[in-house]
Amino acid sequence: MEHWDVIVVGAGAAGLVAATRAAERGRRTLLLEKNRKCGAKILMSGGTRCNLTHATDAAGIAAAFGRRQGAFLRSALAAFDPDAVVEMFHAAGVATKVEPGGKVFPASDSAVEVQRALLEMLRTSGAQLRRETPVTGIRADGGYWIVSTTGDDATAAAVIVTVGGQSYPGCGTTGDGYGWAKALGHKIIPPRPALAPLASSARWVAELRGVTVPDVQIELRPGDETAPVAATKRQRAERTRRGSLLLTHFGLSGPAAMNASGVLTATPHAGAWQAICDFLPAISEEALAAELAAAARNSGRRQVLTWIAERLPRRLATELLAQAQIPPDRAFAELARRERTELVAAVKRTCIPISGSLGFKKAEVTAGGVDLAEVDSRTMQSKLAPGLFFAGEILDVDGPIGGYNFQAAFSTGRLAGESA
Ligand SMILES: Cc1cc2nc3c(=O)[nH]c(=O)nc-3n(C[C@H](O)[C@H](O)[C@H](O)COP(=O)(O)OP(=O)(O)OC[C@H]3O[C@@H](n4cnc5c(N)ncnc54)[C@H](O)[C@@H]3O)c2cc1C
Repeated sequence: MEHWDVIVVGAGAAGLVAATRAAERGRRTLLLEKNRKCGAKILMSGGTRCNLTHATDAAGIAAAFGRRQGAFLRSALAAFDPDAVVEMFHAAGVATKVEPGGKVFPASDSAVEVQRALLEMLRTSGAQLRRETPVTGIRADGGYWIVSTTGDDATAAAVIVTVGGQSYPGCGTTGDGYGWAKALGHKIIPPRPALAPLASSARWVAELRGVTVPDVQIELRPGDETAPVAATKRQRAERTRRGSLLLTHFGLSGPAAMNASGVLTATPHAGAWQAICDFLPAISEEALAAELAAAARNSGRRQVLTWIAERLPRRLATELLAQAQIPPDRAFAELARRERTELVAAVKRTCIPISGSLGFKKAEVTAGGVDLAEVDSRTMQSKLAPGLFFAGEILDVDGPIGGYNFQAAFSTGRLAGESA
């Protein structure tokens, strides 16, 4: 049986960085990958442009993961923050750019360039890569780890598990690591889809497929909850997300909907949901009502549709007028007070029925995974099984859209490679 200092299982974002770092430290390192291609998710990420991190500091990344996950990530981010990630890519010849909102992409808009750079760093480090080698099990034996594959087994002093979660299973991420971790005594927080599009049967949504609204606030509510809601202000804030929204043939997509999906999958509510959409969140309901009243006074001959279409995509503006039961050719002078109230409600509180998320098949990340309480956040080593390390999405870590998830994978992967 071949013996290695470190075996890394899974050549995605976390595994590539972990194996590179371990080999750079002089550890004889083997990286095993199930697929022929490494970093399949890197290639498809960010619409094949790869949003590789976010233009903020370690504290900014930690904050985006919330208090519990952010605290766990603190050491990993301190050692390898967004600037360090950007520097790593610059050193590998990948120029980067920051887009409005803070997303960092390769200047070439090419995810292939990011994947190639990671593979080149791996090659230079001296780590050995074995593709098309699915790992089937990991067990401890006499102070060593035995890693079983569909081919030959191998042993190592340390194993880093970076097999990801179980979203987009077509990429090879079929949740293989959970069973291994569980068998080694680890608690697995039940995996669930996060950053998934939302399904809706609303006909008008499907008819408006392709329409993007740049700034929408979505609050997800259980379907049987009526307004005024029993929920507290804090509860409502926790289930509200803001960002751009894409209407599709199946329902809602884009950052606002996908970031909100974790709320839905985290809540044990078997029934339907409703997405309360505020299509102009930058302006309060009172201010919008006042603006409409002023327009009625000062621009009576102007069409209401034209006014709304200056603020929202025209096809959506037409739909919102229809929902408020206002004819499309209505001028402000003819707009009744009741119609104004209905229009404000349509813009600020349109309710879209949601039957669920599109599930693991279309979720960009998996929430849940290896319980953080059982992993040493200063090294990524298991607290239960010395020599066993976890990094990346297999951990109970999931962040919002914006490059946060790759940053977490790079930082935890690097720390595991530094420690194994
Ligand atoms: C469509 C899509 C777009 C995304 N866009 C972005 C984005 O722009 N920015 C961002 O920050 N995040 C994005 N993400 C999320 C990001 O891709 C993941 O969070 C990240 O890839 C997690 O890295 P990882 O290394 O932990 O796991 P993965 O990248 O999933 O890698 C796991 C690797 O392990 C391999 N593997 C699995 N089982 C075995 C086994 N038994 N034996 C051997 N190998 C195995 C897999 O084949 C895979 O190569 C996106 C995800 C998707 C699906």
